[in-house]
Amino acid sequence: MAVHAHPDDEATGTGGVLVKAAAEGIRTVLVTCTDGRCGDGPDGVKPGDPGHDPDKVVGLRRLELEKSCAELNISHLELLDYADSGMMDWPTNDAPGSFWTTPVDEAAGRLTELMRRYQPDVVVTYDENGFYGHPDHIQAHRITMAAVAATNLPAKVYWTTAPRSRMAEFGEIMRELGADWEQPEPDQPMPEIGLPDEEITTWVDITEFAGQKFEALAAHASQNDNIFFLRMGKEMFTRVMGIETFVRVQDRTGAPLPEHDLFAGLR
Ligand SMILES: [Zn+2]
Repeated sequence: MAVHAHPDDEATGTGGVLVKAAAEGIRTVLVTCTDGRCGDGPDGVKPGDPGHDPDKVVGLRRLELEKSCAELNISHLELLDYADSGMMDWPTNDAPGSFWTTPVDEAAGRLTELMRRYQPDVVVTYDENGFYGHPDHIQAHRITMAAVAATNLPAKVYWTTAPRSRMAEFGEIMRELGADWEQPEPDQPMPEIGLPDEEITTWVDITEFAGQKFEALAAHASQNDNIFFLRMGKEMFTRVMGIETFVRVQDRTGAPLPEHDLFAGLR
């Protein structure tokens, strides 16, 4: 079971492990917490700009999500359907029904029910900073950890991460492709996202499935951020995005670390 904040997050961080698990006959469940209403509209119109119709964006992103799930052979898609809270400090943080203002207990209760229904062996979500500080990612982390504690069902729990050793190279590629990716100042520390390599417990080679991951991201082409990944083309995409990395934060299997398989110890 992967718990994600927005339509498209399933493809970026976990597309490879989801499609790999499906290919191995493992049932996969995607829980998407928000409706993505703060995403880009058709033709790249930004939230808050004239012509951005959040309800239309929701409809479009729902279709994109279903297409992505088909590319990744996801067995079950569950939508919590909270309103996308937008980036930190946007007024949409406090809009009615926003995921960010929903009490953790309430949303975790719904996720707890889903965990009881599907009995996941492995659960994947974000770290406590939501990987990069987005309120909905932080909230997805909180409700997942609360539901894990309430059910005590998953044998293994993971947070997505990225190796810091590769962040510089990744930033370089994104800038070459025209992304608005900030060049770190030489005397500034790297932003606190990702982890030093030695803290990453789990490295999964998904190059065999990178084509499907690419197609899943392509399904979300209305979102500007994804277009930069697509500009890489499949070959560079496979090189840059072909390893998915995680931190194992709970484990009942005793599988030795580092490991290369989310299901090590369960097979
Ligand atoms: Zn997201």
